[in-house]
Amino acid sequence: MLVDNHGRKINYLRLAVTDRCNLRCNYCMPAEGINFAKREELLTTLELKQVAKVLVEMGIEKIRLTGGEPFVRKDIMDLLAFLSHLEGLKDISITTNATLIGKHLDELKQLGIKNINVSLDAIKKETFEHITRRNSYEIVRENLFRLLNEDFNVRVNFIVLQGQNEQDIIPILNEFKDYPVGIRFLEEMPFNGGTKSFGSIHWDHKKILEYITDYFPNYQKLDSPKTSTSVNYKIDGHQGTFGIIPSFSRTFCGSCNRLRVTAKGDVITCLYGKPKTNLREIIRGNDSFDKIKMEVERVIGERAKTGFEAQKEHENKVFESSMTSIGG
Ligand code: SAM
Ligand code: SF4
Repeated sequence: MLVDNHGRKINYLRLAVTDRCNLRCNYCMPAEGINFAKREELLTTLELKQVAKVLVEMGIEKIRLTGGEPFVRKDIMDLLAFLSHLEGLKDISITTNATLIGKHLDELKQLGIKNINVSLDAIKKETFEHITRRNSYEIVRENLFRLLNEDFNVRVNFIVLQGQNEQDIIPILNEFKDYPVGIRFLEEMPFNGGTKSFGSIHWDHKKILEYITDYFPNYQKLDSPKTSTSVNYKIDGHQGTFGIIPSFSRTFCGSCNRLRVTAKGDVITCLYGKPKTNLREIIRGNDSFDKIKMEVERVIGERAKTGFEAQKEHENKVFESSMTSIGG
């Protein structure tokens, strides 16, 4: 079992399988993209499998594949098939923009992979195209409704962006009211591959809840697992739920159970901190997998207590990285 220096059990790995993406969401990266890693810097399929295997042996029970867009990787189903047979791994999930997932639904079902988070920050086509800077609106909606109709466990991630999509908050709740889906509203974080730094945000978790309450006063707060980052609610008459993730306010650090590995093999112990070690060089060197275990144990033993503490590692007070590299 992996336990950090603050007594938190670490059993959840967010594994970014690529930093490439076919969209250009403006909260995630600049229009021209980022300085993408060279192909040889990215972990190969075999290396991703090795990382997953070693970390599961150490106590990881849940792996979420993210990126970049996981489905731009041609070998993604090979990796998922491997993970689905990995002893000790109890939960596999994927975060995707849903542009390319359509042709894989049958195989995903065969592998027993049903937990899919879809990022969708708009109900209207124009808002979607403005935010993503691409015209994939129709295919994303088609794939999202296919996922819902084919009984996947779907959650929708909607980042509330001042001046861009607040007018879609209520419509998205209405649109999915007859589906068993969790709509999660996220605070925006300062990782868009520019040099963002914000001290406060307009749409924080309190304001999002107040806004929803004005339209839907009748809802119940739900019990959520201790490690959940979202506070969850059910509106009367809606089949699904909604949640609010204070990703910028960071009220959930005390129960954080996450470890992140980027597509280049960087290990990140807090989203707001800097990478703590790199596994690619260890795997490609002559060191045994015991060295990976030692390194992971070392960095987990030196974890920042909160995202605010980790943030101090950015001495120049700006966040230069993009979520497409970190994996969200
Ligand atoms: N491409 C996939 C997708 O968009 O779902 C997976 C990678 S994406 C980087 C993972 C998650 O990070 C998405 O839910 C996305 O909305 C979120 N994200 C990206 N940039 C963000 C930001 N600046 N603030 C908050 N969440 C962000
Ligand atoms: Fe791509 Fe996801 Fe970033 Fe959007 S949020 S640009 S879909 S990686």
